[in-house]
Amino acid sequence: MIAGATLEGQEFADRLHRTIAAGGPIPVSAYMGQANAHYYAHRDPLGVAGDITTAPEISQMYGELVGLWLADLWHRAGRTDVCYVELGPGRGTLAADALRAMAGAGLRPVVHLVETSPALRDAQRARLANAHWHDDPSTLPDDLALLIVANEFFDALPVRQLVRAPDGWRERLVISDGERFRPVPGPRAAGVPTHLADAPEGSVIETSPASASVAAELGRRLAAQGGAALIVDYGHPRTGIGDTLQAVSRHAFADPWLRPGEVDLTAHVDFEALAAAAAPAQVWGPVEQGRLLEALGVAARAAALARAQPARADEIEGARHRLTAPGQMGRLFKALALTAPGWPEPAGFA
Ligand code: SAH
Repeated sequence: MIAGATLEGQEFADRLHRTIAAGGPIPVSAYMGQANAHYYAHRDPLGVAGDITTAPEISQMYGELVGLWLADLWHRAGRTDVCYVELGPGRGTLAADALRAMAGAGLRPVVHLVETSPALRDAQRARLANAHWHDDPSTLPDDLALLIVANEFFDALPVRQLVRAPDGWRERLVISDGERFRPVPGPRAAGVPTHLADAPEGSVIETSPASASVAAELGRRLAAQGGAALIVDYGHPRTGIGDTLQAVSRHAFADPWLRPGEVDLTAHVDFEALAAAAAPAQVWGPVEQGRLLEALGVAARAAALARAQPARADEIEGARHRLTAPGQMGRLFKALALTAPGWPEPAGFA
């Protein structure tokens, strides 16, 4: 067994090796998709004891400000009938904090969660008793405006990788290499953006058909039903060159080609591609997470929390710093907003 592997993880890796031995190399997107489906289905990755810490797990301020951002839009859009939708809600922490803040602003929406992991659905059920669950956005209500949140959701969706070989662009495939896996150039690939077509040999371009398809569904629904979406993730504002597939285990970077299904595999989100896919919704940003939270009043919220709980003042200030400082989450993480045509301009995106 590989050091650090669990039995169910080793069984998953062995199965993947057998699939490749029987059917040949698989696309990077299939490797990432199967690995993450296994990973999320078997564990709660969040928190100190897990692999990753996300913004809603750092402080209640994060979910509260997201909730107030949604409630403000809803007020200015005429307080129409809405439901709250979250994609990949993790432990349900953001939703619980956002719903509490929204209730304070007079908004008590029905809750619809898109979540594939049974383990995380259980965690969400404990926080959000009356929610409804969906495997994908296609079954969300179609008779209500949607207030949608996706925090660190799109980074978990599979990416294709295209690599520039001496004779042109090729799709990257994954082969077995002993106990490890390894990406190699595969068949010729189409779909390279024209402004990147002449990139030097060895360059990697990523596209995420899974992300584009979810963004397209959100855009189509917002245009038809009304509402808005806030998408926050780490990534780049423009489609570019770069292999961003990464693995995290126990809060440290790990090898993405070893122990699939036991490490958190993510890729940077291409906000330009998401925005293009989400037309006909109106697109705002992306803006840096730090700038957005500051515009939404994180300093005042932190000060109010610290006044209410003076013993926790340093911790609250530390959380504000982690969420907003450029060297922490403030700059790498970005927010993209989508609004239905005719809905007002969202706060913080001017
Ligand atoms: N939003 C949470 C959790 C982020 S982790 C937070 O910020 O803390 C990614 C989340 O997306 C998990 O809840 C995971 O189970 C879910 N997820 C991953 N792939 C998914 C898919 N294809 N469909 C639905 N949910 C998915």
